[in-house]
Amino acid sequence: MADDCIFCRIAAGEVPCTRVYEDDTCLAFMDIGPLADGHTLLISKKHYEFIHEMPADEAAHLGRQIPALARAVQEAMGADGLNVLQNNGHVSGQAVGHVHFHFIPRVPGDGLGYRWPARESDTETLKKQADAIRQRLGT
Ligand code: 5GP
Ligand code: ZN
Repeated sequence: MADDCIFCRIAAGEVPCTRVYEDDTCLAFMDIGPLADGHTLLISKKHYEFIHEMPADEAAHLGRQIPALARAVQEAMGADGLNVLQNNGHVSGQAVGHVHFHFIPRVPGDGLGYRWPARESDTETLKKQADAIRQRLGT
């Protein structure tokens, strides 16, 4: 547990939250500053700042909760869709340095928008990038 981490303190029961789901490894609760009705967070109980620091088993445990939680959040809010987001690093929008997934219900005209400024690329560039990634995966 990181003493200065708000999500560690929530996981330890020191700071209250509005709980949705809990087991030994993870906890889901309502976001205190929701982007939409039903905005829910799923956290690992153990402190990891970034997803790539997590042991695969613990990440897989979080991943196993995603379909049921996504369905429940979307259906409970009568939403038409849902964004599942997981930010890593300040540059990505991460404000709380403890791994968490956002579940954000979406309805038409909700004003949240969607930014996906796709760029053009070419096969040579994509191959180089894939090589670099594969090298680090060791495959
Ligand atoms: P991030 O920007 O790190 O991906 O998202 C952090 C989220 O945690 C934000 O949506 C913010 O509203 C939420 N949050 C921050 N502090 C608390 C808290 O004390 N309780 C709850 N329930 N949510 C929090
Ligand atoms: Zn923490």
